[in-house]
Amino acid sequence: MARPGIGIWLVGAKGGVASTTIVGLAALKQGLTPPFGLVSGLPQFGHLGLADWNDFAVAGHEIRDVRLVDEAMKLATTSRAIDPRLIEQCRADLAEIDGRVRPGTIYQVGRTIEGLAGAEVPRGESPRDAIARVREDMAGFVRAAGLKHLIVVNVASTEPPVDLASVPPTWAELEALLDRVQECPLPASSLYAIAALGAGHSYVNFTPSLGSAPEAIDELARLRNTRHMGCDGKTGETLLKSVLAPMFQLRNLRVMSWVGHNIFGNMDGQVLNDPVNKAAKVASKDHLLGEILGYKPQTHVSIEYIESLGDWKTAWDHVHFAGFLGTPMTLQFIWQGCDSLLAAPLVLDLIRFTELAHRRGETGRLTFLASFFKSPYGVEEHGFVRQFQMLEAWAAGEAAGE
Ligand code: NAD
Repeated sequence: MARPGIGIWLVGAKGGVASTTIVGLAALKQGLTPPFGLVSGLPQFGHLGLADWNDFAVAGHEIRDVRLVDEAMKLATTSRAIDPRLIEQCRADLAEIDGRVRPGTIYQVGRTIEGLAGAEVPRGESPRDAIARVREDMAGFVRAAGLKHLIVVNVASTEPPVDLASVPPTWAELEALLDRVQECPLPASSLYAIAALGAGHSYVNFTPSLGSAPEAIDELARLRNTRHMGCDGKTGETLLKSVLAPMFQLRNLRVMSWVGHNIFGNMDGQVLNDPVNKAAKVASKDHLLGEILGYKPQTHVSIEYIESLGDWKTAWDHVHFAGFLGTPMTLQFIWQGCDSLLAAPLVLDLIRFTELAHRRGETGRLTFLASFFKSPYGVEEHGFVRQFQMLEAWAAGEAAGE
């Protein structure tokens, strides 16, 4: 077995996506599961020399006072999404990783997320102190495990939206705000991004939270010769939108309205039940239609928390479009997916591709990863197939174009 040389640092380390990623990685290491759902397992990426599953070690930050194995088990018992025997076979890995999870920061995360935090999570830190603390946690893991590289992935709860225009455009200006608690607009996700990128680690934002979106934080990444990408994993309903909308556009069918109703019952759904947190998710799910079609049809996105559904999400979409002679027609689809099982393989793919980008010396935004995100940083192309071609072009060694 190869010695782990690459670290995965999960922010939100005991949530649904993180627990499934950890169970999935442990299962892949032991050869207990086929590689279904893993893009990096496709033949066109076979020549890349992507890292082996045994190369990775996991740690992270969390704010809830819970055990990783119990959270993973909920996916088996409450959601009936994972075979409990698989979790039992990974129990030793889960216990080891549990010991490496540190208390995170709840700086400007809003009241709903604050309400999840246990007593160990520090209150009243300045942004600079929070960054220094989480950076030291990451450094401790790198030292203890003798890691060559660390990839920090944000899979924490969705924060309330932050207006990008309120963030200063340069790193020097933003850095000067880190001691001014009243004036610093950054939420926790951006403090983790600064801690990671400032130390030369890679950073991936799988959530709609602000993370490394500001120009100033991209500048920091480039100053430190490191890389980042986001945001908001494209796993279900929005993935379908980005596949189907180009079809309407290429057949010159006029989409008049697109309504998407989403119901699910996991903790992500509970947090998104707060209208402030929900606003960030709705914006991320809603914007791409206008960008693909070239005009803005009437749209509506609803997200409702229905506890009994657990991790199973149902999305019902109603697309009303006009065909030849202006005749109205309808497409409806129902998507029923298990949220964490759709997300976890993409998290593992993002880690493998980002690690290769690190070896290739690539810095700044990793735009070739656009197909993984609802709102990819620095990319205007939202059609799934074209985005996937960007990944294939990168894999073939070409410059990532849009
Ligand atoms: P979850 O609620 O199960 O897990 C989130 C975890 O983050 C929780 O354990 C929570 O305690 C922790 N957390 C919250 N704030 C934190 C902070 N400041 N620092 C450290 N930990 C913190 O949610 P999930 O279903 O695992 O989803 C995780 C994120 O990924 C959400 O933002 C979600 O919107 C996003 N996402 C999920 C999917 C998907 O599941 N298919 C797709 C795209 C994006």
